Amino acid sequence: MTTNDARELIVIGGGPAGYTAALYAARANLAPLVVEGIQWGGQLMITSDVENYPGYAEGVLGPAMMQDFRRQAERFGAEFLTDDVTRVDFSERPFRVFVGDEEHRAWTVIVATGANARQLGLETEVALQGRGVSYCAVCDAAFFRDRVVVVVGGGDSAMEEATFLAKFATKVVIVHRREEFRASPIMVDRARQNEKIDWELNAAVERVLGEETGKVNGVVLRDVHTGDTREIAADGLFVAVGHDPNTKLFLEWLDHDSGGYLVTMPGSTKTNIEGVFAAGDVQDHVYRQAVTAAGSGCMAALDAERFLAAEHHRDQTVAV
Ligand code: NAP
Repeated sequence: MTTNDARELIVIGGGPAGYTAALYAARANLAPLVVEGIQWGGQLMITSDVENYPGYAEGVLGPAMMQDFRRQAERFGAEFLTDDVTRVDFSERPFRVFVGDEEHRAWTVIVATGANARQLGLETEVALQGRGVSYCAVCDAAFFRDRVVVVVGGGDSAMEEATFLAKFATKVVIVHRREEFRASPIMVDRARQNEKIDWELNAAVERVLGEETGKVNGVVLRDVHTGDTREIAADGLFVAVGHDPNTKLFLEWLDHDSGGYLVTMPGSTKTNIEGVFAAGDVQDHVYRQAVTAAGSGCMAALDAERFLAAEHHRDQTVAV
């Protein structure tokens, strides 16, 4: 086991929230260590064109944008550890963050580990991510103007995404594996009243078509009762079957809701443990945008900086 001296701040997570927190913290001379994860970059690494992040007037590829975020934080002295946190101990300060056998300690921690959109688990789905397979209608709907798209799911997200997509697409097909909906009745009714929306109930997407061309051109549907399959033509597949926050390591320490999302105090990024802050999708199941995650990463860095400054001030006052 190797132990390092306690730092002012460790940021856990390498997505828009983590890198923005690192940027602000580095510029505030907190010399943050960012344990960014082996697969740093977060959900934007599986996103092709990003057209709704302010400042990129011509749009930008998701992975390129995350490299920009990372470089900007690095420029001001943020340090990166490209590995996964395996355990944390928030029982006393300095807090302890473990990466395998290495122990890192810090007086404050920002948790920005994000959330992952649930996938259907199909090989063809993975192969066509960013090539017609999407997990965010707000991000990608505009690419499907006058096209046909399939939305999978029966929850509020699926209803909301289908209704939003219908503003652009000529036809939206909701595919759901049963006849009852998890979505609230009002959201289902709104989708039902939309003439552009068709329904395929008791159906599952078995395969995404388009691997030969590198672009989605249809899906194979399976009737969940009879097992019969058939193809339908489509230009896009929006998977809206829920999200999972990456909070397993923190549930023992930090207050969370029934979905596992960390709970922060209203109007701040403070968690139930003083000195531990949470930012981005790990504590937000409503907005889930790169720009909102970045904004909340900025808030977390400012909260951590102010918390440390107040503490130093207190220590100095006591010393005098
Ligand atoms: P959700 O409520 O968990 O619904 C997920 C849906 O996906 C369910 O219908 C589920 O089917 C289906 N599903 C799950 N895994 C699947 C798989 N492998 N293959 C096919 N279908 C699968 O998730 P959500 O819709 O993202 O909503 C999450 C939370 O956010 C909810 O509390 C929701 O109310 C809230 N939300 C609110 C709004 C709003 O009010 N405007 C908008 C979006 C989300 P089964 O039903 O058969 O399990």
